[in-house]
Amino acid sequence: MQLFEQKLGVKFDYVVNRPWSELKDLVKTGERPVVMARHATDERKQYLNFTKAYMSFPVVIVGREKEAYVGSAHELSSRVVAGVKGFNATEYLRHNYPEVTILDVSSIHEGLRAVLTHRADAVVANLGSANYAIKRHGLDGLQIIGQLDINADLAIGVHKNDPILFSILQKALADVSPVQAQIIYDKWFQLRTVKALDQRQLLRLSFYALAVFSLLLLLILWSRYQQSKQQRYINQINEYSYATLIDLDSMTIQWASKSYARLVGCPIESLQGKSVIDLIGSAFSAERLALIESLLRSGQTWTGECEGIGCDGQPFWTLVTLTPHKDWRGRVTQVWATRIDITDKKRIEQLSIVDELTGLYNRRQFNLIVDQEVRRAQREHHTLCLATFDIDFFKLINDVYGHQQGDEALKALAKVLKAHFNRANDHVFRMGGEEFMLLTSCDCVDGFIAHLESLRQAVFDLQIPNELAPLKVMTLSIGACYWRDLNSMNVDTMYHHVDQCLYRAKAEGRNRLVMCKQTG
Ligand code: GH3
Ligand code: MG
Ligand code: MG
Repeated sequence: MQLFEQKLGVKFDYVVNRPWSELKDLVKTGERPVVMARHATDERKQYLNFTKAYMSFPVVIVGREKEAYVGSAHELSSRVVAGVKGFNATEYLRHNYPEVTILDVSSIHEGLRAVLTHRADAVVANLGSANYAIKRHGLDGLQIIGQLDINADLAIGVHKNDPILFSILQKALADVSPVQAQIIYDKWFQLRTVKALDQRQLLRLSFYALAVFSLLLLLILWSRYQQSKQQRYINQINEYSYATLIDLDSMTIQWASKSYARLVGCPIESLQGKSVIDLIGSAFSAERLALIESLLRSGQTWTGECEGIGCDGQPFWTLVTLTPHKDWRGRVTQVWATRIDITDKKRIEQLSIVDELTGLYNRRQFNLIVDQEVRRAQREHHTLCLATFDIDFFKLINDVYGHQQGDEALKALAKVLKAHFNRANDHVFRMGGEEFMLLTSCDCVDGFIAHLESLRQAVFDLQIPNELAPLKVMTLSIGACYWRDLNSMNVDTMYHHVDQCLYRAKAEGRNRLVMCKQTG
């Protein structure tokens, strides 16, 4: 029509993209005297003159994708086929194949939709219009499944009332060169259609391919990441964790980490199947082992210090955590053991100069210090004082109130001792058990005695119950000596002197201080 506008120097006023049912009346009454692309049916010929056909298309049957090929329209019998009411193809089907159920629709688009929504099994239309409608509305899932044995020969229809316009258009049409006709045809039906369709398909395909490829890539990367994470984890366990897997029934090692093998000084191969008892020796009594085993079997974890003897005969200490490992039936048959090496801590503890319970210096430190202090007293000619303290009837506190309470009493006494003797040259020691020692310099002996007495009273005032003892509370016996000139004294003799005083304090009824008579 644009070509005609150019040729004729006129402008047409169009009505486009409306269903034929709507247009038909406009055309029939002559309100719109020209109609494009119509097949010259007998009915239309009653009010329209038709130019010669300028385009011819086969009439095709369009069905859903995957629908079987229809060799002849007879195969459509008892099926619903949509057709635009008043279109040649529809009427042809209605007359020649009465066994086919026709669904009248008002446009090809509606017919195609009917197929897609299963209201119809197929639609008949000329290939050009069907192709155009599919492309214009972007419909998916349709294909040509057959063909009717008629063609749609599309011509221009002009109302019979306008014979002059008819002859003008007929001439103009005849004037269109085959080349121009081909260009128009290609533009609407071939190149653009096919190309656009191809591009869309290509785009969709490449999108799917990209999606699948990215998914695969992601999967590969993810599994690689997981693998390396797991490997790193295993390596870490192997390198840094003293871990073993223990079979509870046989108490043997099922698996051991490299670092555990290094810790216990055993070749890693020798650990597999090795008895756990062999490694921990007699560190645990049979009753204790049974208790731990029953805890584990009930699904609880256990943590505790454990001494062991390595393959090289070296002792080692670990803080072990035993975690039960259930089998598929939920039974605890194996135990994961992870450990912290506390051998050094234990060694330091053994070498330590501080008593863990009371925080006072221990006997080792006393032995170190007493020599130094004796020499200093000799050098500086000052009085050296030594006192030994022993709790009275301490055994009864343990027996009546328990070892824990006994420990608490020891701590309370240590606190009082520290508070009483807190000057720079006061040294307080826990010699062992409930026996304590004081080493200090005392230029005023009376003051020293008074201080010891006040300490004894302070211990009494703690009112720590000891109901089976005569005074019913914890009391302290003290033996003490002092030496003005230490020329000939040795530590053992000094120690012996205070011990004797203590013995006398006990013998004389306890809860008292006994001072040495002799002074060096
Ligand atoms: P005495 O008046 O003759 O000194 O009688 P005692 O009961 O105090 O003396 P004995 O030497 O018979 O008992 C000391 C008790 O101290 C025995 C021991 O079990 C307990 N003992 C030693 N060390 C500790 C400890 O660290 N904590 C606790 N709770 N008790 C300890
Ligand atoms: Mg004692
Ligand atoms: Mg005692």
